Amino acid sequence: MKEGFEKCLEYPVEVRTHTALHVVKGAIVRVLGDQALWTASVYVNGYHGRITVTCNEKPSKEAIKLIEEKANEAVRRDLRIEVVKMPRSLAEEKYGNIIYDLFPVPEHVKELSIVIIYDDNGYWNINACNKEHLPSTKCIGRIRIKKVRFRAKKKLLEVSFYIEP
Ligand SMILES: [Zn+2]
Repeated sequence: MKEGFEKCLEYPVEVRTHTALHVVKGAIVRVLGDQALWTASVYVNGYHGRITVTCNEKPSKEAIKLIEEKANEAVRRDLRIEVVKMPRSLAEEKYGNIIYDLFPVPEHVKELSIVIIYDDNGYWNINACNKEHLPSTKCIGRIRIKKVRFRAKKKLLEVSFYIEP
C-alpha cells in the first residue's frame, strides 16, 4: 500500500468507485475521441464499476490498455475535483452540452451539480452528477479494467473495471 493511502480508506468504497467512473470516462474520451463522448449508463457495486459509452467500432486491445494507463496516470497525478452547484441555464452557457450524458436530465430540473476534475490546462472530465465524490483522484487507488464488451448493433462500449481495495 502506498504511503498516505490509509486515509483514503476512510472514504466509502462506493464513493471511490463512483469517482473512478469519471476518471475512466476522461481516459476513454482521450483515447477514443469524440465518438465516446456520451455516457449511456453507469453501475457501481463495491469495488466494481461499469461505464457504457457511445462507440462506433470495437476498440483494439492496445486502446483498452491505453485507457487503463491514462486513468491510472490521472489517479497518480491526484487531480483536484470540485463540485459546483449552479443554475442549469448558466451551466449550459458556461460548459455546453458536455456536462450531459446520452439521456437528458428531465426538463423540470433547474439546478445542476457540476462535477469538475481539473487537468493542467482544462478539464479531465466534467459532468452533471448528484452523487458523492472524492476531493481529488488519488484516493481512488489503482484502476484495473476487467472486461470490455462492444455492442455493435447499439454502438455502445461497456467498460468494466475494479479498483484495488
Ligand atoms: Zn459522479
